[in-house]
Amino acid sequence: MNCSKCFTENENDALFCKNCGTSLYTGTTNHKTKNKIMDILVFISIAYWFAMDFLNVIIRIFIDNWYDSPFKYFQMGTNLIYAAIPIIIALSIKSKGLKIPAIIFAGLIACYIFYNNIDWVIKGY
Ligand SMILES: [Zn+2]
Repeated sequence: MNCSKCFTENENDALFCKNCGTSLYTGTTNHKTKNKIMDILVFISIAYWFAMDFLNVIIRIFIDNWYDSPFKYFQMGTNLIYAAIPIIIALSIKSKGLKIPAIIFAGLIACYIFYNNIDWVIKGY
């Protein structure tokens, strides 16, 4: 990749020109791919959230004493994966000022979900 300012030849993956320090990051292709991956992750998270809650409702309706059956482990497993959803949503925020507090809140939610599920394993439902 040639620098747009001084035309020095640089490595293709270089972020700055080795001669003049001009940014070589075009910010289009990489950024678009990254945004698309985040959009897909957020979409999958929400679809997962919907599907698992739907399944949980079905289990609670049709299986008596579901909390004594192996389904409680299913429930625990889905709860733990839920902890990742706020983190993925927080990571998809573009504004830096909002992203950091969102990641902190998401981390606290994840800790709370982990705590609740560990508590559940120890004390029972
Ligand atoms: Zn240059």
